[in-house]
Amino acid sequence: MTRTNIEVVCRFRPQNELEKKVSGSECVSINNPTCTVVSEGKPNEFTFDAVFGQDSTQAEIFDRVGKPVVENLFKGFNGTIFAYGQTGSGKSYTMMGGPNNKGIIPNVVDDLFEQVKIGEESVEFTVTVQYVEIYNEKIRDLFDVDQTNLQIKEDYTSGRGMYVQDATEEKVDCADKVFDLMKKGTANRAVGSTRMNADSSRSHSIFIMTVNQKHKVSMDTKSGKLFLVDLAGSEKVKKTGAAGTRLEEAKTINKSLSCLGNVINALTDGKSKFVPYRDSKLTRLLQDSLGGNSLTTLVLNASPSVYNDVETISTLRFGIRAK
Ligand code: ADP
Repeated sequence: MTRTNIEVVCRFRPQNELEKKVSGSECVSINNPTCTVVSEGKPNEFTFDAVFGQDSTQAEIFDRVGKPVVENLFKGFNGTIFAYGQTGSGKSYTMMGGPNNKGIIPNVVDDLFEQVKIGEESVEFTVTVQYVEIYNEKIRDLFDVDQTNLQIKEDYTSGRGMYVQDATEEKVDCADKVFDLMKKGTANRAVGSTRMNADSSRSHSIFIMTVNQKHKVSMDTKSGKLFLVDLAGSEKVKKTGAAGTRLEEAKTINKSLSCLGNVINALTDGKSKFVPYRDSKLTRLLQDSLGGNSLTTLVLNASPSVYNDVETISTLRFGIRAK
């Protein structure tokens, strides 16, 4: 099997109020693309493709992480961007952001429709979006709260590959339409987690964009799919003092994140003959969009505070396994 390159970047957020109050000191120093985390007096050095400090802007992250994936998508290749890190480390800030500081997903959407505008004289584009979440290994449709246990199917005869059966697929022709749908999905996510007595940080949310192209003269077709994944919080069970349902949730999350780590590791080590995609719903769904011609980027999100040194090191180690 050929070795796949996975881009791994790391982003540190500013310290939050609690961290400032509890300790105030930082344990991270950055010398891009290397960062050093001092824990119990010992320095731990990590080198990635890029390291972003707490002053990094959403635009810088988009240029480094989002733009190349959109470019690849228009060439007809799949792509995946993951946000990994403990709860509160900045995953949703990085992926979604807010109205005045758009994260990767809204920036990808804007860029995608700009590209459509540039190309549409000669190419007919069909863009669709889907939004699902995986909670306790069950796939829920974020565009339809009543669909709570969707199945993954494969169809390689039509070229569709892996897909979520019956997941609502909305055709979209402008960025605002996508933003409206995203709002609806996010609201449904909150409704769903209340119903299940769960916290949305306990699920993986997956925003899927598909771009189909048909050249108006040559009739050539191209298709690319993009998965934008905000992973469940990677924090260790002990720290949250979990019991009962919470403990089961935590175990499922740990298992699915370690499956993801194993798949990434098998793709990148250049030695494995077997990639264990089937070990989790997430990796099975992403089977066509990791490795090969797909562009895969892992964004590690972490806190710079001494208070979170152990979790930060654990996050960075996950990223190192992907290199
Ligand atoms: P997660 O999704 O990993 O649980 P969030 O994205 O919700 O974490 O971030 C936790 C808090 O930290 C939020 O209030 C968010 O606005 C803030 N935050 C995260 N990253 C940054 C950043 N790079 N710059 C400023 N604030 C940030």
